[in-house]
Amino acid sequence: MKCILCGENEAYKLGLCRSCLSDKIHLKSDNMDLTVCPKCGAVRLNKKWHYDNADKYIIKSATSHVIMDKEDKISSVTSYNIGENEISMELVVEDRNLGDVEKEISINLKTYKESCPVCNKVTGSYYESVIQLRTYTTAYGKILEEAKDTIVKFMKNLNKHDPNSFISRIDTLKEGLDIYLGKKEDAVKIDKLMELDYFCNMKITKSLAGRKDSKDLFRYTHLVRILDLQKGSVVYNKAYYMVKNIKPNTIELLDIHNGSTLTVSSKEFFRATYRIVMKEPEATKFIVLSSTDNESQLMNSRTFEIITFRSPFKQKEVNLYKYEGVFYPL
Ligand SMILES: [Zn+2]
Ligand SMILES: [Zn+2]
Repeated sequence: MKCILCGENEAYKLGLCRSCLSDKIHLKSDNMDLTVCPKCGAVRLNKKWHYDNADKYIIKSATSHVIMDKEDKISSVTSYNIGENEISMELVVEDRNLGDVEKEISINLKTYKESCPVCNKVTGSYYESVIQLRTYTTAYGKILEEAKDTIVKFMKNLNKHDPNSFISRIDTLKEGLDIYLGKKEDAVKIDKLMELDYFCNMKITKSLAGRKDSKDLFRYTHLVRILDLQKGSVVYNKAYYMVKNIKPNTIELLDIHNGSTLTVSSKEFFRATYRIVMKEPEATKFIVLSSTDNESQLMNSRTFEIITFRSPFKQKEVNLYKYEGVFYPL
């Protein structure tokens, strides 16, 4: 059947062809303004910046610039093209009498370029807090590099969800690393992350950085001290102790004098003053030659010297830790 209006094309719906049906819907459009950040591509619409899904927000705004009859509304956007001066869209318009009708529309666009607040912060080396990564012994160590890598990875992930979460710079100093953060709340999250991974201590201090919008602006310094000792290290606090085991929240210490084991929480440890006697452990591998219930014959794997040890060993090999000429099993 031919179209009842033009009599040329095949009828599609209600006796009308697609073209005549489309002509019954009248669309116009308002001009639209758009601000784009040239650095990151974020867009500003109605005074609000959008950092993700920019297209989605542009098209949503574009549909609100379409003017149509009262009985019509846009039910979907089937395709679009965002140009420098124009947005073109293919729409499905729902008309009260005609049902769904396909339409095309172009909207005049004026694009402005402006650096977004996040890019302004980043390029201005803005920061709200500093993580100072230090070791217990105050020596720069590999453990700090590891901690930094964990923090960088963590921040990259936060940044995916919040552009205000960023590292504005990292300073490598003789005594450790300073990590500058764009958002102060992230420093608190990093403290928690460090507590999960390391035997460490936190100290937060705040300082006045200036005033903004008649409010005091504070900067926060998070001093994170990580214990850089190992199994076999020796410390002193009223007695000599050899480190048996280090976990994120507790440390086990062998009292060298009486052989008892002391379990100390990270809070207690950092509150007390443990002096470092020997940082690098002296571990030696021994081969267990024979072992009874109360005595073992052990051979030093390097010097082949054989010693008698007054405790049993079930395993074939054992590491003993030396301090002042005496070997300790840990
Ligand atoms: Zn027709
Ligand atoms: Zn930007």
